[in-house]
Formats: sequence, structure tokens, C-alpha cells
Amino acid sequence: MEILVINCGSSSLKYQLFDMEREAVMAKGLVERIGIAGSRLIHSCPGKDEVRIEKPLESHKQAISLVLETLTHPEHGPLESFEDIDAIGHRVVHGGEAFARSVKIDSEVMEAIKRNIDLAPLHNPPNIMGIEACAEILPGVPQVAVFDTAFHQTMPDYAYIYGLPYELYKEHGIRRYGFHGTSHQYVAHRAAALVGKPLEELKIITCHLGNGASITAVQGGKSVETSMGFTPLEGLIMGTRSGDIDPAIIIHMLNYLGMTADEVNKMLNKKSGVYGISGVSSDFRDLEQAEEEGNWRAALAMKSFYHRVVKYIGAYAAVMNGADIIVFTAGLGENSDVAREEVCKNLGYLGVEIDKKKNGVRGKEAEISTDSSRVKVFVIPTNEELMIARDTAEIAGA
Ligand code: ADP
Repeated sequence: MEILVINCGSSSLKYQLFDMEREAVMAKGLVERIGIAGSRLIHSCPGKDEVRIEKPLESHKQAISLVLETLTHPEHGPLESFEDIDAIGHRVVHGGEAFARSVKIDSEVMEAIKRNIDLAPLHNPPNIMGIEACAEILPGVPQVAVFDTAFHQTMPDYAYIYGLPYELYKEHGIRRYGFHGTSHQYVAHRAAALVGKPLEELKIITCHLGNGASITAVQGGKSVETSMGFTPLEGLIMGTRSGDIDPAIIIHMLNYLGMTADEVNKMLNKKSGVYGISGVSSDFRDLEQAEEEGNWRAALAMKSFYHRVVKYIGAYAAVMNGADIIVFTAGLGENSDVAREEVCKNLGYLGVEIDKKKNGVRGKEAEISTDSSRVKVFVIPTNEELMIARDTAEIAGA
């Protein structure tokens, strides 16, 4: 069975083609600058040279057509014909309360995704464009939606409700939803497999630390708490996002600093986080370098980031009344031994003990805790695409 996984952003599109018998990637790539001057596709296929195609792409439909042409290209593509694609899996950011799991897309599902546009105005529209483009180009091929929010639908009401008038939730859907669900679910499953115990018996804290960052408490295989909320802005300090702040700051910016709502929104999402604190970069590699060169704001940015991660891990251990496993994943979690060490050095009270040598690992699955550590600590590279492909194969096959 061959599954195409598509992740559409506003001006980009990532794809991976899977052979599900082997769970192997047959090809993958990225289309950038859709609808902007300089559109291009970068495509790679194991055992073949990387291909770059630069040509104007006005829409997601044109981008998907180019992806399909490349996948079936006699030299660059692994497929002979479009018909070899058995199903398409789409990453959809916001499923709201309508979706607690992945679903086969039909007109009713499309309506529900469209109803959630208000909740994710930047993300759901390009996801919808991707689905509609595939339906036009490959009619009859089953499509499955895999939601970033679905895994967190198991959060109890007392965890997802905000301390706001209840009507805001009932009438406007204002509650905590959580994101990165596919990633948290994937690494939690892998962690259970690595310790050889059923997921149902484990308390796992999964730390997805990338440009966007979130932490989830996974108890008995279910998300019971997660750090992102109504939008992916809540929680940790991130690359350019503020994470938790006193909401009164926003009122202050509007009333006393003369900022517009759009300016506040842009500041909180694009100009804050470690980038905002440091004034240097959102990338931890740049921050580490700047710190070495004596930049104290870069050092402050990283310290406050680690501090918040430590706070959330402590909170989630409290929520679950303990933790068996802590997982680090995503760009920073997978690659930075410094980040993992900075976080874990404050977790001795939980029974966390890191092996310095094992912690040197980069970008591959590994246990980094000592044999005597009460809490097992793992680095597990996330694989949201594989998770989407698995759900798609299961749902489309059924
Ligand atoms: P996203 O998918 O949210 O854009 P990623 O998961 O790709 O982000 O993570 C990107 C971030 O990971 C970078 O901004 C950088 O801070 C961090 N990162 C990646 N590699 C390293 C590394 N070797 N050392 C330190 N940080 C790294």
C-alpha cells in the first residue's frame, strides 16, 4: 500500500510517500513560496540525486500537480502512475471538539474542518486548500485527515477549561485544545515500546522542543494535560512565541502603548520568545554561539526557556502523581545535549539521573538516563509523517 502524506502551510507544502509494507519513505520533498515569486520544489528519493525545480506556482493545486508529476517522473520518481497512490493523509491543525481521532474525509468532515477556521485562521485554510486540490486532481483516492488537536481530546474538562465565564466555552469554543498531538502520541508509543511495557500502565512526560514547543502529560496512553491551549501560543517560551504571559499585558499594550490588536498578535507570535528576549535569534545554535561570545541576553533567553520547561515537567509530574518516563523530541530535544542537561539537572527530586556520555546522542532513539535512574529518559526523534501514514493506511484500508 502506498500512502502520500501532505502537510500544507500557507505558502509551503511538505510531502512524503510511504510504502506501508516496509513503512519506508519512497520519496519526500518540500514546495516553498507558493503564490510568491521564486516558487520551487525540492525533491529527494532514496538512492537518487536531489531534484530542484524552480517554476512559478500560483496555488496549492499547481504545487500538488507538480509533486505528482515529480513522483511519477521516469528519472526522479518512484511511481509509474498516479494510480499507484492508494490514499492520501493530510495533517490538519485544528479539529476542535469535533475530532478525537483521524477520519476519512467526506463532505461532512470538510464542513466541520471549515467550521474550525475561526479557531485556526492561519492553519486550517491552507490545509483545506490541500485537501480540495487533491480531490480535484485525484478524484476517488481516499483522503484522511489527521488532526494536531485530536490526541488531546482526552484531556479532562477541569484541565481544558479556562478560568473564564463558562459561556465563552459553550458559545464560542474558548477552551484549551493543545497541539503537536501527533508528535506527542508517536513518541509516547515509542517510549512504551522501548521500555517493553504497555502504554496503559505508564506515566510519560513528552517534551516536544522545536521552534514551536509543547509538553504533554500522557497517562495510560492518553493526553491528560498539555502546555499549548486555545492556540499554539500558550505554554512554553518558544522560538518566537511568548508562551504564558499575564493576559493583562495585552490590555496594557492596547490601552497604554498604543498598539493595535494586529500588532500585539504579531509581537506575541513572531517577535517574542527566545528571539524577543535575546534580540539575536530564535535558533538555539545561534543563541549558544552568542552566549559564548558574551551576549548576556542570549544567555538569559536560554535560561528562561529551560526554567519554563522545568516548571512544566514538575507540574505534569504533579498532575499524574509521578512519572515513569520523560521523552525529548523535535529539533532542540533531539539534537541538543546542553538543553537536555539543563532541564534534567533540576529533576533529581523526581528520580531523574542523566548519563553524560549517553546524553551526547543526536537525532536518534536512545536512552540517556543512568541504569539506576528511577525515571527513564529518552531521546526519540518524532515522526509525525509516519503516524499520519499509519492512520491513513488503517482508515483507508478499512
Ligand atoms: P519546527 O518544526 O517547530 O520548525 P524543529 O523541530 O525543526 O522546529 O526545531 C528547530 C529548532 O531546533 C531550531 O530553531 C533550533 O533551535 C533547534 N536545533 C536544531 N538542531 C540543533 C542543535 N544541533 N543544537 C541546538 N539546537 C538545535
